[in-house]
Amino acid sequence: MNFEPVIGLEVHAHLKTDTKIFCSCSTKFGAPPNTHVCPVCLGMPGVLPVLNKKVVEYAMRMAFATNCEIAGESRFARKNYFYPDLPKGYQISQFELPIAEHGHVDISLPNSTKKRIGITRIHMEEDAGKSIHDPGRPVSFVDLNRTGVPLIEIVSEPDLASPEEAGAYLRQIRMILRYLSISDGNMEEGSFRCDANISVRPAGQTELGTRAELKNINSFKFVEKALAYEIKRQISVITGGGRVIQETRLWDTAKNRTNSMRGKEEAHDYRYFPDPDLVPLVIDDAWMDAVKKSLPELPDARRARFISDFDLSEYDADLLTADRKTADYFEACIATGAPTKLCANWIMGELAAALNARGKSIDQSPIPADALAKLLCLITDNVISGKIAKTVFEEMIETGKPAQTIVEEKGLVQVSDASAIEAVIDEVMTNNPDEVEKYRAGKKKLMGFFVGQVMRATKGKANPGVVNKILTNKLS
Ligand code: ADP
Ligand code: MG
Ligand code: ZN
Repeated sequence: MNFEPVIGLEVHAHLKTDTKIFCSCSTKFGAPPNTHVCPVCLGMPGVLPVLNKKVVEYAMRMAFATNCEIAGESRFARKNYFYPDLPKGYQISQFELPIAEHGHVDISLPNSTKKRIGITRIHMEEDAGKSIHDPGRPVSFVDLNRTGVPLIEIVSEPDLASPEEAGAYLRQIRMILRYLSISDGNMEEGSFRCDANISVRPAGQTELGTRAELKNINSFKFVEKALAYEIKRQISVITGGGRVIQETRLWDTAKNRTNSMRGKEEAHDYRYFPDPDLVPLVIDDAWMDAVKKSLPELPDARRARFISDFDLSEYDADLLTADRKTADYFEACIATGAPTKLCANWIMGELAAALNARGKSIDQSPIPADALAKLLCLITDNVISGKIAKTVFEEMIETGKPAQTIVEEKGLVQVSDASAIEAVIDEVMTNNPDEVEKYRAGKKKLMGFFVGQVMRATKGKANPGVVNKILTNKLS
């Protein structure tokens, strides 16, 4: 029997606001434990939460960007459970009336087709604190800096049909969050977390199978691995005559497998109810319009524009729009008049490699966009060859000097003067009489040898076009 996997994802993303969702404590990551706390986020008796307006705006941005309907009125609810890192004994979340529902995003599949994935809902909530267990001693610590840091949870429909689709969906969601400048989407720091729900069913069956929920997976790679493992496990349970049980499982990075954490019976009953300390959240049309107008161009639109306006391939457009800063850099580059394809190649090639090697992001590039554009214009103006440009580029990365200065200082200007090149060619031919003879006898492959010799003699400065033309003449 053939089985097909069914996957739905719940993504939690930290919002990049300066302050927490219900108090004015800082959200900064990495501060000493329990220094970003106040009576509100410590859950002292008698305090009242005050909703951070920015959080609502950020959630609205994501809702628009994922084609959701935004609720004119939504509500906060208390999700009750006991845990040491949750001082109030409940988390403020949204339950029956979330801020947004019924959206979708399109993901790209390998054969350059698109697939539409439904977004069930987006809601706002506060994060809990963090327990730190000391392996050497029978004690645990709790850091409450993270309590009250704003999150949005984005819940997908069970529309994903493979671990690869799940990976593509996660990358798409993260890309949108980053384009909107509302979240870092950093999985390692826990600002982008994913719970993956997965079931399998006989191919063609419409009814869903029983799902397992994989919790707290902290890298894209592990999400895909855990899902792939889980698909195999569930299929072998069913083909072995057993039944998949609904449970929460954890991914074991060391053993490359999932393990049961708790079954349905042990699942929490959260006893949700509307939070009486917070009034219903009302969003009027004017506010919605204002937020909608403030949205930047989104990745899909930008990608389409790059293809239609700049004549880039889908592949190039994908890479250049994968993050907003790269796309901005590219547009700044071509705004100076440098040719689009050359800019694209250098940004994705030399520049990406150099930044990568130095652990820098593109907005920390030692070469600003207009400086790279000037270098590339030196190539198209035939001042230097593409090969010399690479040397100049390395120097620019190290020293931050403009291309023109380096070219002048080092005397790298391309030699296009025919008589100067002719003299070098004559010398090369005199020094290599055997090769000349063989070439004339038909071994045309030797052209490369001659070009190489001329380039060596001119330290790479000879204009390759001129060299080729004169060589062809002289050798014939
Ligand atoms: P809970 O709140 O208990 O986690 P939800 O009904 O909100 O449950 O579903 C959470 C996620 O699980 C959603 O992304 C949904 O698409 C997915 N899901 C629900 N049923 C299945 C199933 N049978 N197989 C795979 N995914 C599922
Ligand atoms: Mg869940
Ligand atoms: Zn606080």
